[in-house]
Amino acid sequence: MKAAILGYGKSGQSAEKILKVNGITNIDIYDDSLASYPNISEIKEGYDTIVVSPGLDLNKLNIDKDKVTNEIDLAYSKIDNNAKIIGVTGTNGKSTITYLTEQILNHYGIKAKACGNIGYPFGEAVLEQYDAYVVELSSFQIDLIKLFKADSSCISNITDDHFDRYGNLENYVNAKLKILDITKFKVYALNDNILKEKLTGVARFIDKDLISYPFIEDEVMKFDNFYVNLQKFNLFGWHNKVNLAFALSLASEVVNLNGDVTNLISTLKGLPHRCEYVAEIKGNIYINDSKGTNVDSTMVALKSMDDNCILILGGKDKGGNFSLLTDLINKKVKSLILYGAAAEKIESQLKGKIDVPHYKVNLLKDAVYKAYELSGNTSYVLFSPGCASFDQFKNFEERGEYFKKYVKELVNA
Ligand code: ADP
Repeated sequence: MKAAILGYGKSGQSAEKILKVNGITNIDIYDDSLASYPNISEIKEGYDTIVVSPGLDLNKLNIDKDKVTNEIDLAYSKIDNNAKIIGVTGTNGKSTITYLTEQILNHYGIKAKACGNIGYPFGEAVLEQYDAYVVELSSFQIDLIKLFKADSSCISNITDDHFDRYGNLENYVNAKLKILDITKFKVYALNDNILKEKLTGVARFIDKDLISYPFIEDEVMKFDNFYVNLQKFNLFGWHNKVNLAFALSLASEVVNLNGDVTNLISTLKGLPHRCEYVAEIKGNIYINDSKGTNVDSTMVALKSMDDNCILILGGKDKGGNFSLLTDLINKKVKSLILYGAAAEKIESQLKGKIDVPHYKVNLLKDAVYKAYELSGNTSYVLFSPGCASFDQFKNFEERGEYFKKYVKELVNA
């Protein structure tokens, strides 16, 4: 058996481990960004199996599609206990739902692991053997799947993102909806316009307003058989209540939740860089939402803010439509700061529409210092860039760490 791995990131490396566990040692690696390996376009012939990284567009690769496999399928075929598998996809909220579900199941006493797109490969988790896997799946990963099946899954929402790869919303929606084909039992979905149209009668809806199912009454969120007191839930913003609704629903597919289960949620933590509290300086709360890499996630973060906040937008544009932010900016924002490669584009899309002052700077550090200078009588300084990070940083994590570093400099100033 001879195998090729195209793309040697985390998932490629994890696939290599599984191939080796399967007794395949004749493996060639191709990667365009690592000098020690040949480029993917130089792939030779004669492989029995070709592991393709989700970052690559299969349609652009000149390889035999029947030979193509992927890390998720390789990992899936290694599961030989009765482990439960939960799949999580959607445009925004995936990692948070995945992480919350893992914590809830662990608190319940189940040996569960959050894995997949969240940063810890499914393949690594499977080699360690858990009783439940909560697998975050990007649409790119779902595109490649041939074998993997989840017991239950969710689609957190669908909004326009990744048009660079999919060309239009319809293709992107269809890619996400493939989660239906790879789920054995129940699919939970948000009742946003797109998903309501596509999934009525197929999915169990989670109400985006938390009025129908589940519903909130006196700070208690109620499901069919169980409920939680939200006063004990520490995560910031409405969207995280929705994320919690998904996580509890998914957990209830693995364990039997009954009555008051508030004890399962009182110690839940959020992930860094998602509406993360950083510091309070002179009465202003600084929030790091570096993971807010598209316009929709910025809207979500902004909705959770009090009026009178300072918003920092910018980075590398992904084709987002920033004019969608107009009403929210006019309602919530006192000063807007634009930074980085996308600053001009954002400025031109908002020109003439917003009635708050805006400032353009080059670097993120300048943006943070500008926010500090402008603050006073403000509530929050929200860094939710609505763009990718690659103009100035390696990834959103690095960008978020720098944001926090700059804020901490100001704390000590
Ligand atoms: P993903 O893994 O899908 O990128 P994350 O959980 O990492 O999602 O959250 C990324 C950003 O998306 C957050 O910082 C927040 O601004 C936004 N977000 C989180 N949850 C939701 C949600 N349920 N609906 C819409 N936006 C959300």
